[in-house]
Amino acid sequence: MSFSDLGLRTELLSAIADQGYSSPTAIQTEAVPAILAGRDILAGAQTGTGKTAAFTLPVLQRLSQNEASPRRIRALMITPTRELAQQVADSVRTYGKHLPLRSTVVYGGTNIGKQMKLLKDGVDILIATPGRLLDLVNRRAVDLSGVESVVLDEADRMLDMGFLPAIEQVFKLVPNDRQTLLFSATFSAAIKKMSARFLNKPEYIQV
Ligand code: AMP
Repeated sequence: MSFSDLGLRTELLSAIADQGYSSPTAIQTEAVPAILAGRDILAGAQTGTGKTAAFTLPVLQRLSQNEASPRRIRALMITPTRELAQQVADSVRTYGKHLPLRSTVVYGGTNIGKQMKLLKDGVDILIATPGRLLDLVNRRAVDLSGVESVVLDEADRMLDMGFLPAIEQVFKLVPNDRQTLLFSATFSAAIKKMSARFLNKPEYIQV
């Protein structure tokens, strides 16, 4: 199996080649075609499996297939921590470097005014931690009504950190016909319940 077999466009294949990856990992082989096909995903994957590229690559491809004018947030990637948000943002930038998509990352503990300014210019992809995301929504700096794909990365850690109410709030603000991708290292009863509430006939992937 090669990356081109997964149906990714040349701009993404070129960015992948620049990273020196020779073949997709198991989670990438399973998740990329399903996400490209528009399916919801419930994926069990630990850090180090290549999970970030598994959702970033197909989300970038789907966004690049049509343009939104004016620019609006079309993909929302939520992570439990600032460090993870920054890592996901770096991956989005790395894999998307040949595509005309804009992204930004927001998390707590940093200057919110600066983030509001960046958001004002318009972004296609927002990477965020839950608290800061809702803060920006309340300040009318973020509009989630045009979101097409939501990614919950390390969902089990989000629950452990008490972010369920924030996640529930976010799902009230995004369209019902969105795509939802849930990644978690473990599958507790709480994760299964979350999946049943927010995902639509998900494809279950375990690596
Ligand atoms: P992640 O599980 O997303 O934290 O990724 C773990 C590491 O694997 C990151 O440093 C990626 O750059 C790297 N990686 C992702 N996909 C591949 C691949 N197909 N081949 C080799 N390395 C990869």
